[in-house]
Parts: sequence; structure tokens; C-alpha cells
Amino acid sequence: MTFSVKTKIYNTEDSLNIFEELDYKRVLFITDPFVVESRMIEKITSRLKSETSYEIFSDIKPDPTIELVNSGVKKLLEKDYDLVVAVGGGSAIDATKAIIYKVYEKTGSKKTFVAIPTTAGTGSEVTNFSIVTIGEKKEVLIDDLLLADYAVLVPSFTKSVPNFITADTGMDVLTHAIESLVSNKADRFSKILSKEAIKLVFKNLPIVYEDGLRMKSRKNMLEASTIAGIAFTNAGLGINHSLAHILGGVFHISHGRLNAILLPYIIKYNMEKSENARKELREISKELGLDHEYHLIEKIEELNRKFNIPKNLRELNKIDEKEYFGKIDYMSEVAFKDRCTATNPALVTKINLKNIFR
Ligand code: NAD
Repeated sequence: MTFSVKTKIYNTEDSLNIFEELDYKRVLFITDPFVVESRMIEKITSRLKSETSYEIFSDIKPDPTIELVNSGVKKLLEKDYDLVVAVGGGSAIDATKAIIYKVYEKTGSKKTFVAIPTTAGTGSEVTNFSIVTIGEKKEVLIDDLLLADYAVLVPSFTKSVPNFITADTGMDVLTHAIESLVSNKADRFSKILSKEAIKLVFKNLPIVYEDGLRMKSRKNMLEASTIAGIAFTNAGLGINHSLAHILGGVFHISHGRLNAILLPYIIKYNMEKSENARKELREISKELGLDHEYHLIEKIEELNRKFNIPKNLRELNKIDEKEYFGKIDYMSEVAFKDRCTATNPALVTKINLKNIFR
């Protein structure tokens, strides 16, 4: 087995101290318009060393497209930036990763990269994944060059996340933790992290959903997100993500919400087909005080109900049924080739995926 954590994580009382420690002259911030409006960027720029300059590229939109990445590449090539800081949810961090990667391919120069998550969700600040939308597909890039040099955790930056996004992104953390726990690449190192993240989510997500100002729980959720990120960047994910990627690409629905809707179905599928997945889920269920692994599914369904997350795709009311059923063959084909499918604990065929979509 191999297990690594290359990204240095700043998780202190004042993590923004990092900007007093690093060496840099010219900084590019990559972020989304909300983050600029909410003045989080100002909180960071006020900490930059004197005699440094900075610019802000704030064009990021949810589920970044290849066109957006290309415009970011143009921006990064305009000047001799030596530090790139991504501030935002998974979309801003993923886009930044792809931008830095492409600039490296073009010029051979690798920028120092700081990732500051403002959602407790994707774990992108510590993963070697970046998801870029190309046409209807969400392409999963996996490469160690996509790892941030530094992840900076500032729980107060997640305070303004509205409760429905808190729920979606929090359920994304849970999906990362569960898929990495049962993955066929999981090992002792990754499993201990996956389990810790699962426990943190069950304990803290309902609290921050009810009251986003409960800062201890916000901090716990941000840590859970990063912990699950370290677990899955090492162990990989599974078909929950493969299906969520293509559904998100075709129907433009929040990634975390799709993961949350699929999770009970995929756990059931994997438990029925993989003895190992079942054993792992039995163990974590016990640690959570549940009598049976099937109660874990009920606990997830209960969370979804609490968060107003529908129990199936139909109830989302955002998917045209005719288009959905017409695209099942195509979506199964794409999901089968998704890089997350290879680490799913139970073997899957395209026919299995079609049946799940149905
Ligand atoms: P996001 O980055 O798309 O943001 C969702 C919304 O939340 C946006 O409107 C954003 O402006 C808003 N937002 C962000 N921070 C906020 C704050 N502090 N207060 C209020 N609003 C805030 O959402 P996300 O779920 O973090 O990221 C999803 C993306 O990440 C998807 O494209 C998904 O495919 C990708 N992803 C990547 C990885 C990875 O390992 N790289 C893993 C999972 C998902």
C-alpha cells in the first residue's frame, strides 16, 4: 500500500498567519463573486506582506467548465504570479487546480498553491482530484500535480453558508467518507480517517444545519471534510460518485445533493454484492451505536428527510423524465468509464449501472 499527505494543513486559531510565513511577491486569487462580495478576500489581503501585489480572478461558477479553466489559464499567464490562492467551495478550488496544471503543462513552471475552502464539503484542498465539466461530462482528473501545497482551514469562512448548501456539502463529506471506507483500495490508514469523518458528520451536521453560527460544529465539519478528503485521495471513491458526476453534468444539480440522494441506494447495492463492504459498514454501524448495518441506511435517510433532500431523483422536480430515460444507456456508459468506478467495492457492469439508474 501507499499512503501520503503532501499538502501542509494550517488548522490553527489563526490559520491566515500563513501569509506572514510564505515568500511571495505577486499573488493571484481565484474565487467566485459571492466570496468577493462577502469580503472574505479582504480578510486575506489585509494579511499579505507589504510590498506585494495581488489580483483577483472572480469568474468561478459552480461546476467549472473547461472554457472557464481556459480563461483562468490566460489570466495566470498574464503576469509573473508566484503564489496562487484559491478561495471558495470545491468549484473554485477545482478550477484553480486545473488552471495551475494547464499552466504547468504549457510552461513547466509550478506555482505555489494555497487552497482555502469556504464550504465543508469536497475536501478538494487536500485531494489530487479536479472535476471539470466538458460538454455534458464531468471529467475527473487525478494527478499529484493537482495537490495544493497548503490547505488553510478558517471555520469562520463557512459561517455564511446557507443551510441547504450546508446540508448538500455536508452530505458530500459523508459520501466521501463512506465510499472511501468501503473502497477496494482502502487500508488501515485511510479507514481510520474515513470512520472519524463519518462520526463527525453524524454528530455535527444536524447542529450546523439548524444553526450555522454554532462555530465548534462548523469547525468539526470543516475538519471532517478535510479528513475525508485525505482518506479518499488515497483510497478512491466508488459508483456513488460516478453516477453523481454524469447526472450533475447532464442535469446541473448540486453535486452534494445528488450524492445524498444516491447514497442509500448505493450502500444497499454494495452491501448486497460485497461481503467486505458489508463488514466495514457493520463495524462503523456498531461504532455509531447502531444494531445492524441496515440501520446505517435508515440513519442516512433520516438525515436526508431532516435536510429536505428528496428520497429519489424524481422528487427533485428538476429532471425531465423523458430525457432521463432516453439517456440511461449513455449515462451508464459514461459512469462505467468514470475513474471512481474502478475503486467501487462490488464489481459493476454497465447493466448494473443501467438498473441503478432505472
Ligand atoms: P461550490 O463551490 O460549487 O459552491 C456552491 C455555492 O456555495 C456557490 O454558489 C458558492 O458561491 C456558495 N458558497 C461557497 N462558499 C460560501 C460561503 N462561505 N458562504 C455562502 N455561500 C458560499 O460547491 P461545493 O459543493 O463546495 O463544490 C462542488 C464542486 O466540487 C463540484 O464541481 C464537484 O464536482 C466538485 N468536487 C470536487 C472534489 C475534489 O476532490 N476535487 C470532490 C467532490 C466534489
